[in-house]
Amino acid sequence: MQSVESYRDEILAAITPLPPAELNLREAHGAVLAADVTATWPLPGFDNSAMDGYAVIAADVAAATDNSPVRLAVEAEVAAGDTVHQTLTQGRAIKIMTGALLPDGADAVVPVEWTDGGTDSVLISRPAEKGNAVRRTGDDARPGDLLLPAGTKLGAAQIGILAAAGHGSALARRPPRLTVISTGNELAEPGTPLVPGMIWDSNSHMLAAAARELGCQTTRHPTLPDDPAEVLAAIASAAAAADLLVTSGGVSMGGEHDVVKAALAELGTVTFRKVAMQPGMPQGFGLVGEDRTPIFTLPGNPVSAYVSFRMFVVPAAAALQDQQPERTVPPTATLTDSVRSPQGRRSFLRGIYDRAAAAVTPLTGQASHQIASLARANALIVVPEAVTQLPAGELVQVIELP
Ligand code: AMP
Ligand code: MG
Repeated sequence: MQSVESYRDEILAAITPLPPAELNLREAHGAVLAADVTATWPLPGFDNSAMDGYAVIAADVAAATDNSPVRLAVEAEVAAGDTVHQTLTQGRAIKIMTGALLPDGADAVVPVEWTDGGTDSVLISRPAEKGNAVRRTGDDARPGDLLLPAGTKLGAAQIGILAAAGHGSALARRPPRLTVISTGNELAEPGTPLVPGMIWDSNSHMLAAAARELGCQTTRHPTLPDDPAEVLAAIASAAAAADLLVTSGGVSMGGEHDVVKAALAELGTVTFRKVAMQPGMPQGFGLVGEDRTPIFTLPGNPVSAYVSFRMFVVPAAAALQDQQPERTVPPTATLTDSVRSPQGRRSFLRGIYDRAAAAVTPLTGQASHQIASLARANALIVVPEAVTQLPAGELVQVIELP
């Protein structure tokens, strides 16, 4: 059996990042920058007011108090979006709105709250220091400043700075297009009636949702029967329209019904492994189609499929965007109950992790078909290969689930 790490490293070594493209700001959301983004303009681009109030010369209002306010004539008004440069003369004020161009000659803004709000003239009852409520050119970023380094995943705030800095697009790798295909004669569509012997297809819906959680553009292929020719044809056509394929079912050790294995074994580009983990021992990975699209053939048991997705598909999707896999050390927690684990295999047990208490409670129902406990879990408890049992009170690593 192959270790989890060695299998994952083999997968990552086989993945070629998607080519970067110039993406508009809508498309760039969730994409990963392929080049540094620097400021070409100062941010802000001009001196402007941080508040609604009056642009003044600080020296003119230095003596202002509640008891002896200073009166200044208001000679003009300037609002955000006005592009005409006003000039302030000594002893006067210009009414100014937040974001408006600071008039030449002005060196402070008196907030409207410190005044009587007058329009022809204004009574100012507090002094404003030089620079008060003024946003200076370039105080956020200067031309040439690095705004976002290559490798940054573009979330809302990063889209915001791209836009604020005037970039209408960015050179980036969009999230992979991922297609999920489930196989099995026993599968029926949820929402339709069922007879004993059949089950509702949970995997394709679950895995498609997991892919969407990663930001992937996700397609769920209609469920396939256990027919190798049909499976192969579906994989071939899906490969042409996806950056990543994920199948479920048909890869266990059971022989003739393992249709995914049977269909793909012929191609010779997909290898099937036993990985030293539980759940999720039978795994297949390879490249298919003209574009050499990476394919994961996940085991059919729902919890096996889910855990396999987390351990292998998530890092592969990141690698397609040329993102380094997260190297964060999982948190540790104290077991509130004892657990068991098979010798020689790393167990991923479903648990409820209490972050505040740094404690984790293993759930009952740990068999790989028991998806009800997966739905209750918020974490996986990691039990190392060599360990076969752990009493309550032991420290374990936990993998938090999204
Ligand atoms: P297989 O890997 O095809 O041998 O399937 C292993 C187990 O997982 C069997 O009990 C299947 O019925 C079940 N299974 C396979 N595919 C799905 C699916 N899409 N949704 C739910 N259970 C599945
Ligand atoms: Mg099957």
